[in-house]
Amino acid sequence: MTGSPHTRGGFALYRRLVRHVVPYWPVFVIAVLGMAIYATTDAGFAHLMKPMLDEGFAARDTEVLQWLPLAIIGVFIVRVFARFASDFGMAWVARHVIRDLRRVMFHQLLELPIRFYDTSTSGVLIAKLLYDVEQLAQASSTVITILIRDSLTVLALLGLMFYTSVTLTLVFITVFPLLAVIVVFVSRRFRKLSRRIQQSMGSVSHVTQEAIDGNRVIKVFGGSDYESHRFAEANEYNMRQQLKLAATNAFNVPFIQLLVASAFALIVYMALRPDMQETITAGVFVSFMTSMVLLMQPVRRLTIVNANLQQGIAASESVFDFIDQEVEKDTGARELGRVRGHVIFDNVFFRYSEDKGDVLQHINLEIEPGQTVALVGRSGSGKTTLVNLLPRFYDCERGRITIDGVDVRDATLHSLRANIALVSQQVTLFNDTIEHNIAYGDLEKAASSEAVWEAARLAHADEFIEKLPEKMATVVGEDGVMLSGGQRQRLAIARALLKNAPLLILDEATSALDTESERYIQDALDHLLEDRTTLIIAHRLSTIEKADRIVVMEDGQIKETGTHEELLARDGLYASLYQAQFSPVESRR
Ligand code: ADP
Ligand code: MG
Repeated sequence: MTGSPHTRGGFALYRRLVRHVVPYWPVFVIAVLGMAIYATTDAGFAHLMKPMLDEGFAARDTEVLQWLPLAIIGVFIVRVFARFASDFGMAWVARHVIRDLRRVMFHQLLELPIRFYDTSTSGVLIAKLLYDVEQLAQASSTVITILIRDSLTVLALLGLMFYTSVTLTLVFITVFPLLAVIVVFVSRRFRKLSRRIQQSMGSVSHVTQEAIDGNRVIKVFGGSDYESHRFAEANEYNMRQQLKLAATNAFNVPFIQLLVASAFALIVYMALRPDMQETITAGVFVSFMTSMVLLMQPVRRLTIVNANLQQGIAASESVFDFIDQEVEKDTGARELGRVRGHVIFDNVFFRYSEDKGDVLQHINLEIEPGQTVALVGRSGSGKTTLVNLLPRFYDCERGRITIDGVDVRDATLHSLRANIALVSQQVTLFNDTIEHNIAYGDLEKAASSEAVWEAARLAHADEFIEKLPEKMATVVGEDGVMLSGGQRQRLAIARALLKNAPLLILDEATSALDTESERYIQDALDHLLEDRTTLIIAHRLSTIEKADRIVVMEDGQIKETGTHEELLARDGLYASLYQAQFSPVESRR
């Protein structure tokens, strides 16, 4: 969420931003030079007014009449180059910073622990990457442009005004403190509104994304009204905040202009008084007035610079908070080679959060290399949680897990995970070809296309791949929407088989398959499982009868272990689960 409870100083945030600008300093310097030159051209133009009137119009000095038009054109030619350097230079730097920040943020997305994703929604995160980064860079570059170019313009013009007439300038300057008070007052409001707008962008994109992903559920369960309502709320809120911002802006600008105009009126009154006729010639007056008119624009922009500044601060808070999120702890230093697969859970406890109780308690389990251990138990008994500790998706609270005698926390994440192949409950497919989905990630370079076909064959995926229009080169759509649940699972199994890791985790990997396909795959797996350590979670107990050991879980604890026959003979929890699956419907009630 963008509304982090702690609000850091804007200064600290900008200092961090500066670090991202540093690599592009040459262009930045050119842009700033452009701004400085541009700023002086305004004063230069105003200054030309004095000779034009006093010598040109009043005295008809022919020499002045010759160089003055050229000087005017000259000033504006300089302006063209200066403006281009400042605008394009700043855009160039801003675009590079946006690109860099997005790269850092995307990298961060990949490095964040699974725990982070348990509590964040993808819509909000996407909004951060798209909207907040853009806001941050745009707002900051606008702020810098205004602060440098416009304040230099103001300084140059004020300098010229002093030079032209001290009295008139002093009158003008009395209005300035009033402006400052208003600016401070308005800036707080801008900041508050900008932060709200960012949050509401997160909500809008979050609701939209759910509507896209959950489209089928919404249609069948009649969720349209509910979703429309949710969307309308977020959308409405966003609009109201935007309007408040616009209202603040819309009032702020003309009000400040009113103040400046009052000063203007006062100056006209002063300049036209009889006792001033001596010092204030027509040329002085027009030059002064030109300066004042030219001053209006930059002063106006300087007063709204707060809006941009506050937007930038709110956006950078959001962006940097995200970048500061703690990434996965990869503190282990041991590089595991290919392990034998001797896994020990040594009195492991685990909980998802402090306020919720233990999800796993007293887990003691030793698995010899090459053994197949099946985990069974009612849903919610902690099976998935248990296997997720092995690739360190989460770290256990107490106790330890070792592989070949090495605590998993002492191994590097990469070498640990290189030893594990996983088919999880939710199959994830990428919007890519079948081939790339099977040979995914590290496998992409390593696997030949024969090996990919072989894995597909073992997973019984070859039969349906053969029938696809482009076979292995068929693109499966976002998250494999073009495939059936069973087909998706077969691809996931093929991916795991291709990896050929010494540890294999199958978490309800065949739940979406028909009984026949499941049998086939089971037979194929039986061969494969011989030389690797396998943890298999299966809903249909018929598929795990041949496991070396069956572990029965309930409420996060291991209740029984043994072979199928032993457990049936024992007539305990396993026997009752088994009976429930194989007896007529009535006895299940
Ligand atoms: P199983 O795989 O046996 O069905 P799980 O391991 O998925 O069970 O879940 C065990 C318990 O942990 C459940 O009570 C579930 O509500 C809880 N749980 C699972 N995943 C999370 C999570 N990411 N955050 C918080 N609680 C979770
Ligand atoms: Mg599960």
